[in-house]
Amino acid sequence: MEVTGQLLQTKRKRTPQRPKGTYRLDDFLIHRTLGTGSFGRVHLVRSKHNLRFYAIKVLNKERIARMKQIEHTNNEQQMLASVQHPFIINLWGVFQDPGNLYMVMDFVPGGELFTLLRRSNRFPDPVAKFYAAEVALALNHLHNEDIVYRDLKPENILLNTDGHIKIADFGFAKSCETTTWTLCGTPDYLAPEIIQQQRYNKSVDWYALGVLIFEMLSGVPPYHQPEPDHILLYERITRGPSFIRFPAQFNENATDVIMKLMEGDASRRYGNLRHGAGDVFAHPWFREVDWDRLAAREITAPYLPRISGDGDASAFDSYPEDNVALSYGQPGPDPHGNLFPDFEYTSPNF
Ligand code: AMP
Repeated sequence: MEVTGQLLQTKRKRTPQRPKGTYRLDDFLIHRTLGTGSFGRVHLVRSKHNLRFYAIKVLNKERIARMKQIEHTNNEQQMLASVQHPFIINLWGVFQDPGNLYMVMDFVPGGELFTLLRRSNRFPDPVAKFYAAEVALALNHLHNEDIVYRDLKPENILLNTDGHIKIADFGFAKSCETTTWTLCGTPDYLAPEIIQQQRYNKSVDWYALGVLIFEMLSGVPPYHQPEPDHILLYERITRGPSFIRFPAQFNENATDVIMKLMEGDASRRYGNLRHGAGDVFAHPWFREVDWDRLAAREITAPYLPRISGDGDASAFDSYPEDNVALSYGQPGPDPHGNLFPDFEYTSPNF
């Protein structure tokens, strides 16, 4: 196991925003939908200028305002704009028109880790370890930038052409130097202190990594029930990991790292102790990981997505298109325009 000082660097100042290109809807041909969220959808698009493919996330301003997600949306833009890491999605630029916000990102063609996991049922130990180790590097980077991610789950981990991960969806990411308290995330992945509405810190991401490792190795999250029941789920999460039934195929070190990451008392949780992420990197389950080579993407990924060419989105589920793209870029009332100051109006029509 090798860990360099570079990976474990202590807190740095937030990376200044990179100069971003100015984009507008007119620059792109909109292709199919890649995924949907509560406020809009993500489209595969092609630049009319350089003919490259990108993904554009379109968010409906009216819906964001109605669901009181203005701050989260602005956070998402600001966090993504300030982060640059090989295992995190790259944001090229943002803009808005009267109806929507637009975020131009790299198109990550391999689909969601979720799809691969459901297809595989569960991952063998070395495969789970590979993805967990890349996630650990990405989390460490975000935490060094004082960003808490808050939505780790297989749906938000995309696979690039070369099989390495790209973490997407920064909808809950937030600048967090000390503690915060908003109740957000995905039920199975919530740390007990979030459920109990206590103040919490970045260690909720390490807790979620424990849940992710369990889900990758077993096929379901640790407190999974066939019929979802949030009250029962929250009770189990609060009781702590000693009540988890670990499948017989888990090796001892895997069980141990999950227990240490899912520790209910955040002050004793791995990732949140004196050595920070160093304790996670140094855990025996990760013994064979060469962290420097992994960070340099020199380790061959366990699974290479089958991609037939640029713009092949066959790894993604199909969604009804409903001609939704026709509504983009239309004139209309714009009562929420001033709520998203980082999203510029770039079209000469508005
Ligand atoms: P989000 O609302 O950010 O979670 O995006 C919804 C879904 O769209 C994701 O779960 C992915 O399946 C897909 N998606 C998001 N961003 C990208 C991207 N940059 N490249 C490819 N697919 C993406």
